[in-house]
Amino acid sequence: MSGLYGIDDAFLSLAQDAALKAGPEWERAEDTRRHNYLKVLKAFQAAGVGDHHFAGTTGYGYGDLGREALESVYAEVFGTEGAIVRHQISSGTQAVSACLFGILLPGDELVVATGPPYDTVARVIGRSPGDVGSLREIGVRVKEVPLLPGGTPDLEAIEGAVGANTRAVLIQRSMGYSWRRALPVDEVGWIVEAVRRANDGAIIVVDNCYGEFVEKEEPGERGCDLVCGSLIKNPGGGIAPCGGYIAGKREYLDRVAARLTAPGQGAGIGPTLGLNRLLFQGFFMAPFVVSEAIKGAIFASWFLETLGFDTMPRPGDRRADSVQGILLGRPERLISFCHGIQAASPVNSMVLPEAGEMPGYGDKIVMGGGTFIQGASSELSVDAPLREPYACYLQGGVAWEQVALGVIMGVDRMRKDGLI
Ligand SMILES: *Cc1c(COP(=O)(O)O)cnc(C)c1O
Repeated sequence: MSGLYGIDDAFLSLAQDAALKAGPEWERAEDTRRHNYLKVLKAFQAAGVGDHHFAGTTGYGYGDLGREALESVYAEVFGTEGAIVRHQISSGTQAVSACLFGILLPGDELVVATGPPYDTVARVIGRSPGDVGSLREIGVRVKEVPLLPGGTPDLEAIEGAVGANTRAVLIQRSMGYSWRRALPVDEVGWIVEAVRRANDGAIIVVDNCYGEFVEKEEPGERGCDLVCGSLIKNPGGGIAPCGGYIAGKREYLDRVAARLTAPGQGAGIGPTLGLNRLLFQGFFMAPFVVSEAIKGAIFASWFLETLGFDTMPRPGDRRADSVQGILLGRPERLISFCHGIQAASPVNSMVLPEAGEMPGYGDKIVMGGGTFIQGASSELSVDAPLREPYACYLQGGVAWEQVALGVIMGVDRMRKDGLI
């Protein structure tokens, strides 16, 4: 390795120690993978997935058998009545946005149960008049309940905030770009119980980005009404070229579909253009890819803690998403670390990432990761908004070895740049 990649020998021996320490923690990830793999396989068999489902439709996409079978596989695995799985959903943000605009009307109240939402979701809700087309603009009222200091949900405050007029409650599982822990599915279940006590009819929506297949259970199995995410994160298995999903109760899916396409047409249209096989295959691969990413993330937390950096989750912590937060503390280090991750990538390894503006984000962001699919974070990638506390968020990787190489090269790059 040191000859092949020019990495300092001292880092390699520290990395070897970290890999040894990470080993016992990997067993949990592999146990989860086995469970989820068998669950996914069973759902393919139950839906009778066949070659004929891989043919695509064009135009309106009426009667697309592959699309229908894929959506029934998603619903089965995520424990919901139905699902909408479409390549026309271009981002996780669009999936969350479709859910919220599908169920909220002017004058309705939304309670955000997990503190400040992810940057792009905050703009869907609307923080300022500059957020054109936001929920606030159409007159949705929003209350936000912060997480408790340890990052657990504040059940009492949630129960207090949800009233008779609350139409929907939003739960964000992953840490996003904030220094908070991800919510395990059983804690999502506690929120569901608290919300039901206060208002049995409130619609519970989960932003499940990065949460899929990290645990043996999914939020739909705990009674959440709508659960959504991106196919270029966990459930696409590194193979889906684009897309998003929304799984949940039929009556709410119908409303969401009416916003996603048009009232009356709903989920009945949407040509698949020959992409079905990739979405099926990606979903089939997803439990493996997620477990590799998590093994890489566990290694990263051990290795960076050894070097004196704070990580979230920390070594030994239970994991509820596939993201690894690393507190680097200085903007120059974020950029340098991203250069190392980029250099460890199979595509565009010669590119030097710079911080830039991104659609939907307020702060400048630097990203590293040369992926086959643009922006895919099922593949190894790192993002860092240039703001306090100067943390980066590492995720994905179809093989843990690549994550390890990326992290080692990131640290080595910071050393070469004189930053550590
Ligand atoms: C990634 C992510 C999203 C959606 O991001 P896109 O880049 O639009 O797919 C939403 N919420 C959270 C918590 C996320 O991590």
